[in-house]
Amino acid sequence: MDAAAQVQGKETGDRAQVRNHWSVEEAKALYALPFADLMLQAQRAHRENFDPNHLETASLLSIKTGGCPEDCGYCSQSAHYETGLKATRLMNCADVVTTARRAKDAGATRFCMAAAWRTPKDRDLDSVCDMVNAVKGLGMETCVTLGMLTPNQAARLAEAGLDFYNHNVDTSPEFYSKIITTRILQDRIDTLAHVRDAGIKICCGGIIGMGEHVEDRLGMLVLLANLPSHPESVPINLWNRIDGVPVEDAAEPPDPIALVRLVATARIMMSGSVVRLSAGRQYMTDELQALCFLAGANSIFIGDVLLTTQNPKVNRDADLLARLGITSGLAGGNQCA
Ligand code: SF4
Repeated sequence: MDAAAQVQGKETGDRAQVRNHWSVEEAKALYALPFADLMLQAQRAHRENFDPNHLETASLLSIKTGGCPEDCGYCSQSAHYETGLKATRLMNCADVVTTARRAKDAGATRFCMAAAWRTPKDRDLDSVCDMVNAVKGLGMETCVTLGMLTPNQAARLAEAGLDFYNHNVDTSPEFYSKIITTRILQDRIDTLAHVRDAGIKICCGGIIGMGEHVEDRLGMLVLLANLPSHPESVPINLWNRIDGVPVEDAAEPPDPIALVRLVATARIMMSGSVVRLSAGRQYMTDELQALCFLAGANSIFIGDVLLTTQNPKVNRDADLLARLGITSGLAGGNQCA
């Protein structure tokens, strides 16, 4: 039996079973299935674990922008590159809560707060804990991304009631050092372990379109799927073109069908995880997004801005979801046109 058939057999035989011992060969075999077969498996996995006609809606706010000491080669916020981005101080709690309330009114159920740090200082962590507490008071799920954490810092965030911590692996182990040199992949994995040990759910994914090969994208999925527990949220980002960063020269937008295949492969490998179609949706047609939702993507960021880049307008998203008959927190997102 070839590898694709073996994977198919596992998937159809082990309904909704969560595995964390994937090989790259298995991921490649899934990814390379005839499109209709891949989509059928992804749909099966999706329907066994989620309502396929419902989408999670999250909102993302940069609470401290730019001036980051890390050298992530794709990022406008790194202090290593001249991108024209103006660094800001940490926002105050009242302004964050006002923004969260607006996001909730617009239909977001989760509010994500991002700070461009290598690791938070204790004083800043106090402020973030206050924000988490206040946003939870609005009845929203909370997520923060603050860089690397110690076990103690993770415990403090857990005490504040944090639901999710975002810390992306970004890419495959093989491609990682071509993108970032100021911290190693193991640093990231250590932080994920501290977050998990503190009882906080994990949001962890990566970026495609940075000049990596398909094998790297699949290597990233294998890395995620082989963590001791699958991340509860898996964001898949398309690199947003940014002038002045190292990735700029090698970057190439992925073929749209390759993106759909990747989403479907992620859905099958991490069948119980929410897969978020994250940054880069402003480059996607309605048809491509619809295919990604069919392939198992079941979360999006809403709002006109994502950190320092653009995102589709909320009314465009509401219109698309209405035409697809997909329910969400967005007004008007539950009726077929
Ligand atoms: S750690 Fe985050 S904010 Fe800092 S350079 Fe990397 S991606 Fe950008």
